[in-house]
Amino acid sequence: MGQVAYVIGQPIAHSLSPTMHNAAFAALGIDARYEAIEIAAVDLSRWIQSIRRPDLLGFNVTVPHKEAVAREVDRLEGDAQETGAVNTVMVDRESSSGWKLIGTNTDTIGFRRSLIEEAGVSLQGQRILLLGAGGAARAIAYAALKDGAADLVVANRDETRARRLVKQLFRVNTSTQTRAIAMTDPSLAEELATATLVVNATTVGLGTDEMPVDPARITGMVVDIVYRPLKTAFLRAAEEHGLRVLGGLGMLVYQAAAAFELWTGATAPIDIMRNATERALASQDR
Ligand code: NAP
Repeated sequence: MGQVAYVIGQPIAHSLSPTMHNAAFAALGIDARYEAIEIAAVDLSRWIQSIRRPDLLGFNVTVPHKEAVAREVDRLEGDAQETGAVNTVMVDRESSSGWKLIGTNTDTIGFRRSLIEEAGVSLQGQRILLLGAGGAARAIAYAALKDGAADLVVANRDETRARRLVKQLFRVNTSTQTRAIAMTDPSLAEELATATLVVNATTVGLGTDEMPVDPARITGMVVDIVYRPLKTAFLRAAEEHGLRVLGGLGMLVYQAAAAFELWTGATAPIDIMRNATERALASQDR
């Protein structure tokens, strides 16, 4: 009997995770399939009880369930312990106290690996301006602190949410200067001009030509983790101003690859996962 993995979220119809993982299972001849399941918050606990089955390989979690799943699993491991957000759940069948669900976070790994492998850039010593304070921003802030960023400014539309993120995570590395501001704060202009790395982790630009901030004010490198479209209006404009840019596809592929490797123990076929994702995005755009 083949094994099964899932991604859960709401909405979930356009998730690229089934494409990436099914391509990887096929390429490596692994007898498993990967399905997307739409689950409302009220049904989450019941679903997690129902999938404690022998054929479960694991599951991914996306908006809006990452924090709720952290409370539902039996144990947290790795980056999920401090971020409080789970995007990958594994099964521990060997536990002395019975079958356990373990929550971890591979968004941190995906962001870091994309930056290093695709741009040759490390987070260490960077002055980072992080736009957004949602689930993805939380993983990126954690990676920035863990890897020794010099400064981390979190700017968000809802300033309270940015303050909460910084308050929860600053202890990860007290050598990093941390600050939370509102997107409307007058000091944002100065932060844009002095940051060595500006990261868009808001949903602004997702399927639109909107931009989270004015790229003309930026002097450092720009990363946009939004991957629909593959090159956002923000990245295109930043490039026109002569800035280095990096899109979100790499983070997406590398977080999936890390989950795949945790579940299967096999090395993820990165190029196959990336090509399948690019093809799926291109066909969704048509
Ligand atoms: P989320 O938890 O829902 O957070 C959304 C963020 O966007 C919040 O900071 C929110 O600000 C901000 N925002 C929404 N509308 C805005 C607007 N009109 N103006 C300014 N800010 C606005 O979502 P998430 O999971 O963090 O995902 C954020 C984005 O990252 C999505 O586009 C997602 O597709 C992308 N993502 C990419 C990857 C990847 O692997 N490349 C991984 C995860 C996510 P408020 O707090 O003020 O509402």
